[in-house]
Amino acid sequence: MIITQNKCLLEYNTFRLNVFSSEFAEYETVDELREVLRSSHSKKWYLLSGGSNTLFSSDYDGLILHPISKNISVEREDSAFAWVRADAGVNWDNFVDFTINNNFYGSENLSIIPGLVGASPVQNIGAYGVEAKDIIDSVEVYVLDTDEVVTMSAEECHFGYRDSIFKHELSGQVIVLNVLYRLSKSFKPILKYGNLSSELGEEGSFSAKELRDKIIEIRNSKLPDYTKIGNGGSFFKNPIVSVEIAEKLKETYPDITTYADGKGVKIPAGWLIDKAGWKGYRDGDAGVYEHQALVLVNHGEAKPKDIIMLANSIIGDVKEKFGILISPEINIL
Ligand SMILES: Cc1cc2nc3c(=O)[nH]c(=O)nc-3n(C[C@H](O)[C@H](O)[C@H](O)COP(=O)(O)OP(=O)(O)OC[C@H]3O[C@@H](n4cnc5c(N)ncnc54)[C@H](O)[C@@H]3O)c2cc1C
Repeated sequence: MIITQNKCLLEYNTFRLNVFSSEFAEYETVDELREVLRSSHSKKWYLLSGGSNTLFSSDYDGLILHPISKNISVEREDSAFAWVRADAGVNWDNFVDFTINNNFYGSENLSIIPGLVGASPVQNIGAYGVEAKDIIDSVEVYVLDTDEVVTMSAEECHFGYRDSIFKHELSGQVIVLNVLYRLSKSFKPILKYGNLSSELGEEGSFSAKELRDKIIEIRNSKLPDYTKIGNGGSFFKNPIVSVEIAEKLKETYPDITTYADGKGVKIPAGWLIDKAGWKGYRDGDAGVYEHQALVLVNHGEAKPKDIIMLANSIIGDVKEKFGILISPEINIL
């Protein structure tokens, strides 16, 4: 375990921004984590996992912690379920691949979401009608204040849409060490989103591996490959507005698709940004992805301020054109 000074983070953030942190340390065990925190000279720290939902607004004057523990193990099984524990440093898609190869089901719709396992409960990652919360049994965390390792039940994680207690009350208080997932032994595909059912056919006529391959194919056709074009996935959250505002919007734009969400209505932020004319926009190396307006991209040499300025311009323009305030989904540091 070594703390590196003045570390370049280019390879550690999918926006591929050339930023530096004053201290950086990888750790494998909780004892190494304790040791790093004890030895650091920094006043603040940030847990950088896969860096695929993190936007650096400048160099980071503090300690970057990066988990590298990669163990996946089947902890127990009964006739219906398998409980699989994965360390925070496991690549998320390697975990999905592991479960499907072992005939454990539930994660296939979450195929190729970038990032590491430790972020999956923090973000409550989701795609194609499935969220991490659907398969999380419990989360083991290191509590900084008490120096203890504690197991939190899924209920205690207060999961919401791309949200959890780790983004609120426990932000900066705990570090996720590993996650215990409960996977089903029978394959019950969830096909309610996108064209999955028309593309795959009747339930029973395809395998979990085929569903995973189809999702990978669809995602690859829609989203930019961050190893080629830097990006952080969906940059903005879908705003939730009142029923009255949504109805007015529908009158003016009958083509808009809205979704009921509790007492409000969810409006696709990508649609608003697209309709405002930003899709494919480019200013220097900062831009909006040509096939998906919700994704801001770094075409090469963009600086953090270029991406932030672009995001602010989009927020202002959408507010002016539709009267709706959109806000970033990505963690801005
Ligand atoms: C091309 C692309 C597509 C994407 N598609 C999706 C999608 O379909 N669905 C979706 O939900 N997301 C998607 N995302 C966003 C992203 O992949 C997820 O949010 C992912 O969970 C982030 O993981 P990470 O390891 O990269 O997290 P990071 O960006 O490193 O961290 C995210 C947050 O979690 C915290 N954190 C991470 N690990 C820990 C830990 N061990 N303990 C405590 N806190 C921790 C960090 O401090 C930070 O606040 C996409 C991103 C990209 C680039």
